[in-house]
Amino acid sequence: MKKIQMVDLKSQYQKIKQTVDTSIEEVLNSSAYINGPYVKEFQADLEKYLDVKHVIPCANGTDALQIAMMGLGLEQGDEVITADFTFAATVEVIALLKLTPVLIDVEPDTFNIDIDALKKAITPKTKAIVPVHLFGQVANMDAVMEIAKEHNLFVIEDNAQAIGANYTFKNGTKKKAGTIGNVGTTSFFPSKNLGCYGDGGAIFTNDDELAHTIRGIVNHGMYTRYYHDVVGVNSRLDSIQAAVLKTKLPLLDGYCDSRRQAAMYYNNAFKNNPNIITPTTKSNADENCGEVCNSCDCHVFHQYTLQIKNGKRDALHKHLLDNNIPNAIYYPVPLHKQKAYTDDRYNEDDFKVTNRLIDEVISLPMHTELDKEQLKFITKTVLDFI
Ligand SMILES: *Cc1c(COP(=O)(O)O)cnc(C)c1O
Repeated sequence: MKKIQMVDLKSQYQKIKQTVDTSIEEVLNSSAYINGPYVKEFQADLEKYLDVKHVIPCANGTDALQIAMMGLGLEQGDEVITADFTFAATVEVIALLKLTPVLIDVEPDTFNIDIDALKKAITPKTKAIVPVHLFGQVANMDAVMEIAKEHNLFVIEDNAQAIGANYTFKNGTKKKAGTIGNVGTTSFFPSKNLGCYGDGGAIFTNDDELAHTIRGIVNHGMYTRYYHDVVGVNSRLDSIQAAVLKTKLPLLDGYCDSRRQAAMYYNNAFKNNPNIITPTTKSNADENCGEVCNSCDCHVFHQYTLQIKNGKRDALHKHLLDNNIPNAIYYPVPLHKQKAYTDDRYNEDDFKVTNRLIDEVISLPMHTELDKEQLKFITKTVLDFI
């Protein structure tokens, strides 16, 4: 059996080595290392794929979030609501910009922002909501957009984990994750669903004016060369990464399918065990949706995350490692308990789900190259132990 890895970037690369190497060599020979033709081409390809008017490439997914918030003109003291159960980057940039992060609990089945908690958290100072499409599934955007409209709030989608996912609204229309709110952001970190071979990120929007503002911000606040109208940053996607991404973008839907197939295998293996809760897929258009199926496009499984209900999560984590099965706890500490982000305003009763999830979640190997033999071994090892 091939060695099991959490993410198998090497096997994925071997399959596309020739095309990727050729495109990288082209960049090397052209010496257009910054803002070369591949950056423009990838930008246009991604705009088409996402069906969005503007893609602004940048240096990484954390920058993308920061720049989006700068572009919206958020100011010191403005409250920004986001999920307690996510990677720290989301809340980090809110704090860095001297905005006030307001962390809220998540839903127990999708791990995404809880709508009742969201409604409760809104104050006269609230200016924006940042739904994080965690582990590859889009948050309840029907509800988020309705609340945002009612209270006149910006919506910034942190789409670092869900690029390629579709969201089906209650009325049946579909949109790509990240293109629903005022602005969406993503990361091309190597292990993300669309990963480059270094750091990369992008911002998406259908708002012409916001796109113009953001294009200046990523380039030192310049709209005319050497005239700095606003305080900006330096955040670029380099040409080599753009070349890799242009080659990989046409493969993204296939990559999502491979991940979904692996998720279906896992779900089937675990579904009758009372101590294991498998990930739920939820589509607003289909009330019966709940099981991962071939026609699912609302979840792209950046992570495959189980909830272990018999108190044996930590023991399982160790048992799998002992059997050379990598696995991870995403995330071990809720953000509201992190030293950098605790706040006296928070009340533990408001984080019941996150506080439980950190003790119960475990993410299994999930990538585009998992084969049946590996999946069989992983599921058997889990079931024999639980
Ligand atoms: C990866 C990630 C980011 C940050 O992306 P980088 O490119 O590593 O800066 C932000 N938010 C979420 C939810 C992520 O998973």
